[in-house]
Amino acid sequence: MTTVPDITIIGGGIIGMLTAREFHSAGAQVVLLEKQLVGQESSWAGGGILLPLYPWRQDVAISALVKHSLALYPDLALALHTETGIDPEWNPCGLLITQNPDYELAQAWCETYQMPYQTVAEALLASLPTVLNKPLWMPSVAQIRNPRLVKSLRQDLLNKGVRILEHCEVHEAITTQHRLHSLTTSTGSFAVNEVIITAGAWTHKLLHTVLPSAQLNPTIQPVKGQMLLFDAKPDTLTKIILAGEHYLIPRRDGKILAGSTVEHHGFEKHTTDAAKQTLYNFALNLLPELCNYPVLSQWAGLRPGTNTGVPYIGRHPEFSNVSINAGHFRNGLVMGPASAQLLSAMLSNRPTQVNPEPYQLTAQRCL
Ligand SMILES: Cc1cc2nc3c(=O)[nH]c(=O)nc-3n(C[C@H](O)[C@H](O)[C@H](O)COP(=O)(O)OP(=O)(O)OC[C@H]3O[C@@H](n4cnc5c(N)ncnc54)[C@H](O)[C@@H]3O)c2cc1C
Repeated sequence: MTTVPDITIIGGGIIGMLTAREFHSAGAQVVLLEKQLVGQESSWAGGGILLPLYPWRQDVAISALVKHSLALYPDLALALHTETGIDPEWNPCGLLITQNPDYELAQAWCETYQMPYQTVAEALLASLPTVLNKPLWMPSVAQIRNPRLVKSLRQDLLNKGVRILEHCEVHEAITTQHRLHSLTTSTGSFAVNEVIITAGAWTHKLLHTVLPSAQLNPTIQPVKGQMLLFDAKPDTLTKIILAGEHYLIPRRDGKILAGSTVEHHGFEKHTTDAAKQTLYNFALNLLPELCNYPVLSQWAGLRPGTNTGVPYIGRHPEFSNVSINAGHFRNGLVMGPASAQLLSAMLSNRPTQVNPEPYQLTAQRCL
């Protein structure tokens, strides 16, 4: 007879994998169910900037998770690199914001969250043919190379003995008296103890089909984002630049990402010529040198969008053994480590580093 795992996680993006890692290190036996291959959806498609865009314009509940994650990232990246040989390229390359009319808000935010900032030195701006409005330089902002992060996490989980079942889509559940007993999937049925739903943009849909009796279902909608990748030489750009709603991110090997779009088209994730043109024009206006380099690829991902960007982290109030960690919208890479720790601490009644209250699934948040 196979034993029933302590924790069954549905959805193998960055949130599912970090959650699996966290519960495993707290001593639990963990199984991760993923409908395709792990880490190939939003978590692969993202840019990996480890700071929300203009965090001072966003809900404080986002900043609380960001602050805690930023403290965890250097050790996490080092451990993953050491233990798997795959370097997720955590890189504190700095972020330059070219237009920041709410400079005072930004300053206050940086002071509160102890994030170093400077008014921009002439040297940093010299080569930028762009409109400047109260620019801000944040030298400690880091990036993570998310396709490598998910690859190293997958290897790390396998090394630790976490069972990862890929091509295993969860279709149905058997529930009685507010408890989930087993999951029916494309590869068979699984008895469960605790279930954690980390299905990103598919979370609402999954709950709707798997737990149709639930009155509360988080309002998470897919929000498409497209990106372009330039095949530039190393040191063409050395820092992240945010200009208006778009950004450039330089990877260590020289490649430069231009992102992103924000589109509401349901679960459709085709790339479009219009987005390519917008991102291409943005990139060349900001860094004309990019005209010397080919566009290597264009892709789209589906962010798990919520109205405020605040994720749902905690127990489903109607089921004694179902929890959710989803809805990280534009900031799942930067909020991921803290979100996973928060859920693990909550379910094992340990003290939490972050106040759990703003992330709970309540009737008010589901309106
Ligand atoms: C263009 C773009 C740029 C971004 N840039 C940044 C950035 O710079 N910084 C940042 O912090 N964040 C960024 N993000 C956001 C970030 O990528 C997401 O918030 C994060 O990846 C969400 O992770 P997730 O694990 O919840 O979702 P996903 O990565 O989408 O994972 C969910 C998983 O659940 C699986 N699943 C769904 N249904 C089922 C089922 N029924 N059974 C089994 N498995 C199922 C899916 O196949 C998928 O693998 C960006 C996103 C995009 C698209």
